[in-house]
Amino acid sequence: MILGKPMSADMNLRPIKYQWAYDLYNQAVANTWFPHEIALGEDLEDFKKMGADEKHAVSFLMSFFNPAELIVNRSLALGVYPYLKAPEAHLYLAKQMWEEANHCQAFEYVLETFPLDREKVFNVHLETPSIKAKEDFIAYYLGRMTENLDISSLSGKQDLVRNLVAFNIVMEGIWFYSGFMVALSFRQKQQLKNFASMVDWVVRDESLHLKFGLNLILTILEENPEVATPEFAAEIKKIVIDGVNLENTYNQDLFPRGILGINAGYVNQYVRYVADRRLEELGFEPHFKDANPAQWMATETDTLELVNFFEAQNTKYEVDNRAHK
Ligand code: MN
Ligand code: FE
Repeated sequence: MILGKPMSADMNLRPIKYQWAYDLYNQAVANTWFPHEIALGEDLEDFKKMGADEKHAVSFLMSFFNPAELIVNRSLALGVYPYLKAPEAHLYLAKQMWEEANHCQAFEYVLETFPLDREKVFNVHLETPSIKAKEDFIAYYLGRMTENLDISSLSGKQDLVRNLVAFNIVMEGIWFYSGFMVALSFRQKQQLKNFASMVDWVVRDESLHLKFGLNLILTILEENPEVATPEFAAEIKKIVIDGVNLENTYNQDLFPRGILGINAGYVNQYVRYVADRRLEELGFEPHFKDANPAQWMATETDTLELVNFFEAQNTKYEVDNRAHK
């Protein structure tokens, strides 16, 4: 069982019971990168030439992502790590938590490089209802994990799965992808290429976070068949759909008008497309049935690459061979 209070015997790495967790740990270590490997300053001229709406989009993305990285770490530290027994899962979570810290520092580097008002950026999530609603959503499911949760009970296990679906599937697996798509859309217009390279590395990390979270959810459901009642399944699907609605509202604030040929409608269609992929990965039928409006994103974040992860070893990304395109 992957869930439960660890006993002394659980403190031995071998024999490894969950090979997928250990493989993901090793892949994550091979993917290690540092923000200052990117020459972000080379994008400064592009940034200065951008219009107010484009600058707002970059700034608003930082306003959401900066606290979001720290929120993911809280969700892992308080809502996941304490309830898992497998050392190989703990190894992976330790690396993921470093990666979230590293992403936070990467966005610091963006704030240091571009002429953005850091104090203003840091205050946006406190003052903007559409961002606050996203944070409250995550805090609600994490809150249930920190109130005397009994992980051996059915309701405790269900709370853990709810929390995983909220922060891993919805926040990391849908909201982050929505933001990445907007960030990478600048490169489609030959702008902010170095910033886009940094986002590529963040996406690569996040695709493993998502892979770990999905494997964990599916393992829990497999080992605890009493968890996935029809009512619970409907509830899980609703958490995903609620997440899509929150992102739709947020995207209205991200794009008061359109930028670079994309607007809230375009991004929201991508959000629905990605949400359907997440539903499928969880074993549901697609709900929205929208086509991917951003075909160019397929190469960045293709779901097939996730599914085939173990077959297609991702050698182009290894630490020792990471000359960036
Ligand atoms: Mn992250
Ligand atoms: Fe993450």
